[in-house]
Amino acid sequence: MKHIRVHELGEPEVMRLEEAPELKPGPGQVLMRVMAAGVNPVDTYVRAGLYGYTPELPYTPGSDAAGVVEAVGDGVRHVAKGDRVYGGRAVSGSYAEQALFDAAHVHPLPDAVTFAQGACLGIPYVTAYAALFLSAKAQPRQTLLVHGASGGVGTAAVQLARQAQVTVIGTAGSEAGRRLVKEQGADVVLDHRDPAHVEELLRATEGRGVDVILEMLANENLGQDLKLLAPEGRVVVIGCRGTVEIDPRELMVRDAAILGIRLKNLPQEQARQIHAHLGEGLRAGTLRPVVGKELPLSEAAEAHRAVMRPPAYGHIVLML
Ligand code: NAP
Repeated sequence: MKHIRVHELGEPEVMRLEEAPELKPGPGQVLMRVMAAGVNPVDTYVRAGLYGYTPELPYTPGSDAAGVVEAVGDGVRHVAKGDRVYGGRAVSGSYAEQALFDAAHVHPLPDAVTFAQGACLGIPYVTAYAALFLSAKAQPRQTLLVHGASGGVGTAAVQLARQAQVTVIGTAGSEAGRRLVKEQGADVVLDHRDPAHVEELLRATEGRGVDVILEMLANENLGQDLKLLAPEGRVVVIGCRGTVEIDPRELMVRDAAILGIRLKNLPQEQARQIHAHLGEGLRAGTLRPVVGKELPLSEAAEAHRAVMRPPAYGHIVLML
């Protein structure tokens, strides 16, 4: 089988397409014939050595994938050979024709959902769900700002919030991105590259601000975000690529809070419940992952450049 291998950390070109022996599942594992692999920003941080830990080299990048079960190890009951599935936290790396997963991280893929869409579910949808409902505890009729709504996590957050009757203000930095955010159901769409979006947001909320902000670039926006919060508002930091100065008094006067989230810290039982909820939304058609770009496995390096290059438009997947 073919897989992408990284022998040394560095630029996208360190990812090479190589041949490897067929994999076999161990006890409690699922072997997937990968049809599509999700490309997430974190894959690029790990490859570049910027994630705070170094994988054992050589390694195969990628957490998320969708495909067909090829074999299951001892003790695996909830999926069987031939099932359409999606998975996260791939044990062997998902940028490959075959990938191993712990069974707990493999879930049925409804027939109406394509493999490419299935590859968008692991990191983006679980992060968006956990930030919105576990961290911020968003409620129906509250107002949410998805600051960076055009990418993988942002489009998922807009869909999940609309499904829960949360009013959504979404931002994007391009015309196409703003159209996409509107199509996902956002009530108001703004341009985060235009400083006027701050005034426009306050006008749209009649000066009250928003109850929840999901922040994709905290190093740019966190200081300003605190001024956009309604009383008891919550900002959840999802993405951050540097440091930022804030005025904590903005929190004090609002009884507000800044929360951080790291998907890796999510307990297994909560992840299981989130996937059950995602399954319902996928079957009902209220959740429709947006595949913005499909590339062949051999173009993994271009996929890594693309995921870090604005403007975002949904999620990027490698097709096998
Ligand atoms: P993505 O698909 O590349 O999307 C990036 C988003 O950030 C786009 O909507 C982009 O909008 C937006 N953005 C760019 N400049 C912005 C600005 N000045 N203000 C507000 N938004 C801005 O990435 P993703 O997969 O959605 O992930 C988003 C971030 O969350 C990344 O930094 C990622 O590493 C992080 N993340 C963290 C976790 C966690 O566990 N904490 C999990 C998943 C992802 P335009 O391109 O339209 O300008």
